Amino acid sequence: MLLKRFIEFDNLKENSFILFNGDAILYDNLTKSYLFDPKSLYLDSNYEKYRIGIGIKDGKCIYAIQLKDIGTKNISNLDLDQIDLRFMLPQLSSDEFQLVSRAKQLLHWLVSNRYCSYCGNKNIFESKEEALYCSCINTYTYPTISPCIITLVTNGNKILLARNKLFPEGMFSALAGFIEAGETAEEALVREVKEEVNIEVSNIRYFASQSWPFPSQLMLGYYCECLTGNPEPDGEEIEEADWFDINNLPNIPPPTSIAGKLINSYIEDHLQL
Ligand SMILES: [Zn+2]
Repeated sequence: MLLKRFIEFDNLKENSFILFNGDAILYDNLTKSYLFDPKSLYLDSNYEKYRIGIGIKDGKCIYAIQLKDIGTKNISNLDLDQIDLRFMLPQLSSDEFQLVSRAKQLLHWLVSNRYCSYCGNKNIFESKEEALYCSCINTYTYPTISPCIITLVTNGNKILLARNKLFPEGMFSALAGFIEAGETAEEALVREVKEEVNIEVSNIRYFASQSWPFPSQLMLGYYCECLTGNPEPDGEEIEEADWFDINNLPNIPPPTSIAGKLINSYIEDHLQL
């Protein structure tokens, strides 16, 4: 996909819309797709201030829009499901993941920056910069991405997995946290592991990254090795944390998520040794 931000709408061109209802994405059971033809939604140029163009894919301009901004009258004839994006994302191919993740993030950016934070006047979309603009101090507002670390702490055949209090029952995963202002990713990793499970780590190795649109994180995945003892969960964010043998794991995130990739890749490498 060609990544662009735009709001212009051309009735003569082929366009597709991705519809959200909060964090849920709408899925058309008839076309078996989450991409909607604007004609089926009766959308036109009147929706300029509510939608955001996120890119061009297969010659089509792709837009994102919230259902509450177009009204439910437009979809009453359609056979729709609403799917929680947190459940849908792990099932998508990397191309689809990028499309849907970008749609969600840019829509959030548009909705949360309708007004200039300096003077309170309405921001306008400036096509050349592909950004929101206010003339008061000549400032552009670009999409903000928040970097986070996610790390798998390892100790030979054992990996450290933790249960965040927000996880579904029985689900364990790698440790994660936001990078603080002024911190490097590696410093954030050391701090987060210490804060969440009171463990010191070393030998930090970068693995891969993944976008996570709740609302706009970039997860930077790392391995690290344990230097000290047993995990002590902080009792606030982390309810349970323990060492697990790679041959006997609890429920873990799906293999398409960065957490699942970190865990599975470690196991594959380790079993080959
Ligand atoms: Zn302003």
